[in-house]
Amino acid sequence: MTRVLAVANQKGGVGKTTTTVNLAAALALAGLEVLVVDLDPQGNASTALGLDHHSGTPSTYEVLTQDLPLEEIVQSCPEGEGRLWAAPATIDLAGAEIELVSLVAREGRLDRAIQAYVEHHREVRGRDLDFVIIDCPPSLGLLTLNAFVAARELLLPIQCEYYALEGVSQLLATVDLVRRHLNPRLEVGAVLLTMYDGRTRLSAQVVQEVRGHFGDRVLPTVIPRSVRLSEAPSYGQTILAYDPTSSGALAYVDAARELVGTAHSDRAPG
Ligand code: ADP
Ligand code: MG
Repeated sequence: MTRVLAVANQKGGVGKTTTTVNLAAALALAGLEVLVVDLDPQGNASTALGLDHHSGTPSTYEVLTQDLPLEEIVQSCPEGEGRLWAAPATIDLAGAEIELVSLVAREGRLDRAIQAYVEHHREVRGRDLDFVIIDCPPSLGLLTLNAFVAARELLLPIQCEYYALEGVSQLLATVDLVRRHLNPRLEVGAVLLTMYDGRTRLSAQVVQEVRGHFGDRVLPTVIPRSVRLSEAPSYGQTILAYDPTSSGALAYVDAARELVGTAHSDRAPG
């Protein structure tokens, strides 16, 4: 069965994109087949994965607004040993948030596209795709809503900084609304603490606070603050290619292993 994850937090700069691309690369290196869907008009995940995404490139914009099948835009990522694919986003996607409003079944468009792609993958590869990881924009608009309808699990990155939990209750209220009206199977699958700085008491306090709030949904591994993680995208690489022995790479490999191990079907919703 294919696990579909939405990496979401309406706050910007908390590590959504960094988490999406590095977890995806770690999962692919572990032998799993992974599709990344870039749903942020900034296209940062596309950049980090070395994809062509200049304006005009067929992208998630055409998939959402013109029903273009995902297989027509999906590119194979240069790293990932033939097991990592991604659907690029271009700046055109910035218009989708408004264009979608007038389209029929506007919240379910990504869901339908992903389901069709999962079938396509099975036919072409003779096996199921293991993960679809959706990188969401920093808002709770129609793009993120499409991700929540398509996903079974929310993967919530939380930055070890001041106001770490700010906005989280609004996010969880949105998840609740989606669950009641659009996608009853959506659950908070995992919380990942990012940009942890072991030298500060603040980081330790945030870890404690978030674990108190989310309990065992928080992955045991915490992603350290690391300059190497922030450098990798400018080379069109994930940390697994850019500096595979760095602390950030090792942390994402561990987090990927933990994610694979999370039971995700027998939990109480919430
Ligand atoms: P989001 O997608 O939530 O906006 P990003 O993943 O783009 O967040 O991260 C925001 C910025 O922080 C980027 O410049 C990124 O390179 C940097 N960054 C992310 N995670 C780390 C980390 N663990 N250590 C250092 N810098 C990081
Ligand atoms: Mg991002």
